[in-house]
Amino acid sequence: MTTILETRSLCYSYGDGTKALNDVCISLQEGKKVALVGPNGAGKSTLMLMFNGILRPSQGIVLFRGQPMNYDAASLRSIRRAVGMVFQNSDDQLFAPTVFQDVAFGPTNLGYAVDKVKRYVGFALQYVGLSGYERRPPHHLSGGEKKRVAIAGILAMEPEVIILDEPTSNLDPASSEEIMEMLDELNYGGKTLIISTHDVDLAYRWADEVILMKGGGVVRRGTGQEVFGDAKLIKDARLKLPLVVDLYQELAGRGIVRGSEPPKNILELCDLLQPKAETEVLGKIYICNVDRADGKGILAMLEEIPACFKGAMGTSAKSLAEKCGISIDFTYGVIDKCILKALLGKSSIIMTSGGMVDHTMQRIEDYGQESGTKIEAICPMQSTENLK
Ligand code: ADP
Repeated sequence: MTTILETRSLCYSYGDGTKALNDVCISLQEGKKVALVGPNGAGKSTLMLMFNGILRPSQGIVLFRGQPMNYDAASLRSIRRAVGMVFQNSDDQLFAPTVFQDVAFGPTNLGYAVDKVKRYVGFALQYVGLSGYERRPPHHLSGGEKKRVAIAGILAMEPEVIILDEPTSNLDPASSEEIMEMLDELNYGGKTLIISTHDVDLAYRWADEVILMKGGGVVRRGTGQEVFGDAKLIKDARLKLPLVVDLYQELAGRGIVRGSEPPKNILELCDLLQPKAETEVLGKIYICNVDRADGKGILAMLEEIPACFKGAMGTSAKSLAEKCGISIDFTYGVIDKCILKALLGKSSIIMTSGGMVDHTMQRIEDYGQESGTKIEAICPMQSTENLK
């Protein structure tokens, strides 16, 4: 594993003397999803601002790919391209009169030629599902759309790491889940992601690594199970347990479930409660690669698999479903929800972009290995293009 960001004995005090970080020593691995959690004032935002050079340590150093950060203009430009920062409040980030100009700001500042800027902006807006929004004023957009524009502005600079301060605050549940799914897709494409959040359920199920901060320092880091499995630690940090952990501990206390660590999600909790599916016939999961099929192909596929549940993962799948008038049952946590349906003998179809097909197959395969219940995953469009 490659360390992408590291801090050594990092301390920071604001101008008024407030000590915000105290001897923080952490290393973050490339390609991981990291969540910083902790009470207000723990130092999460300050640490994030250190990672892309917006703040300069009072003591200690920050290293990017093993190199200590320098704070001259050229070094800062290079680090801010590689480590993009999405602020909590999109209004602090979006300032240009149009979406295009906003997203173009970063690549233009990097000195890219006009054509290249246009290409990068086009790609970034398409990625976040906002093609066609180029001329719209950002301040007229919804909270979720503004967040997407802010993310597009970072993507247009092709960062290696994306840092998001409270990415779901002030968003409705559906917009929050869509943003988190987009982050999953980016992570699957190789980006390292660091978020801060008060949403313990989100941190628990989403992050590969959770870093718990308090009083300017790191008090625990590990998997969600390792950090949130310690109820006293979580209470002392003025947080609460993720619902699935809380429920698990209650059930374990009553002797209803056993296990050495809490389940990661509802699917794992269900498996603890009922280790083998009772149903004789398992449902199947069809995976539809929306990069290989147009609306007609997908509708034909749906006709062949009647009465199935439909899930859409990622921006392109959701917009294609909307365009075709396909009503979607699951828009987040799609793979696990389809596995749960398969265990009840119901089939489902997951629409997703080509980049996520292997990931989806792998997740279903991994579930089979872990649980001993193999669910058939079929991807007709992976080997043939005849539905196009
Ligand atoms: P978190 O993101 O975990 O809520 P912050 O990094 O925002 O924590 O804050 C850490 C500490 O630094 C807190 O005591 C906070 O009051 C202080 N702080 C944050 N920003 C400033 C600032 N601009 N000026 C002075 N103190 C600040």
